[in-house]
Amino acid sequence: MIDSHVHLDADQYPDPSGAIKRACDAGVSAMVVPGVGPASNRAVFELTKEYPGVILPALGFHPERFEHSEDDSREVLEMIERERDSICAVGEVGLPWYGERAKDAGMLVAAKVTLSRFARAAVTFDLPLILHAPHARAAEALTIIREAGVTRAVFHWHKSDEQTTRAIINAGYFISLTPEVAYRARDQDLARMLPANRILAETDGPWRYGGQFAGRLTEPAMIKEVVAAIAHLRCTTFEEIAAATTANARALFRIRE
Ligand SMILES: [Zn+2]
Repeated sequence: MIDSHVHLDADQYPDPSGAIKRACDAGVSAMVVPGVGPASNRAVFELTKEYPGVILPALGFHPERFEHSEDDSREVLEMIERERDSICAVGEVGLPWYGERAKDAGMLVAAKVTLSRFARAAVTFDLPLILHAPHARAAEALTIIREAGVTRAVFHWHKSDEQTTRAIINAGYFISLTPEVAYRARDQDLARMLPANRILAETDGPWRYGGQFAGRLTEPAMIKEVVAAIAHLRCTTFEEIAAATTANARALFRIRE
């Protein structure tokens, strides 16, 4: 299995090597670690050096990190160009939704310009995009990436209306499900409606969850429980969903066996 989105570089992981070992023991063979800004991208690369082929780095510029400047986004774009052969994706990038500043019209216009720059870079360097585009931002991000000519993308922790979800699927993009799929109706409905060849599994650790995960540190080993929950909802076997989500992640990120 593959955790398609986990921030193992985050300072909330006091012992990333322990988390990686527990993931491997649980049958998770690779973890995509998306950076969120210049310093985070450098930390992701440090981690990759220790676990080549297991930690798969992506370089990004998180849309909700309002402390980052225009200069920072240029720095990330330069790093993507430099490292294009050693990264598996551009991300996490996207559009802001949470908090007061995300509601500011000027801020949103600037964020759309930034996203379209990253989308064009992904096309230029033949890399997929990892998108953060919650709720109404999903439809807006979809328009931007289609205009840029993006052919490979995942809408991470997707939460939007059914019409937008169908448009994303029809455009050939992927949608990833988090541990919330084990206990939250919205995510469970999504798990039932998606075609099997469009689903990815992710933890988005260290983000903490409720339900059966309450009080536990979110680790990539939890992918096993995400896959089990999806299989249960779709009335199929664990093996079938493990195989499908792994094949989807391999196709999206071009991960070799
Ligand atoms: Zn994330």
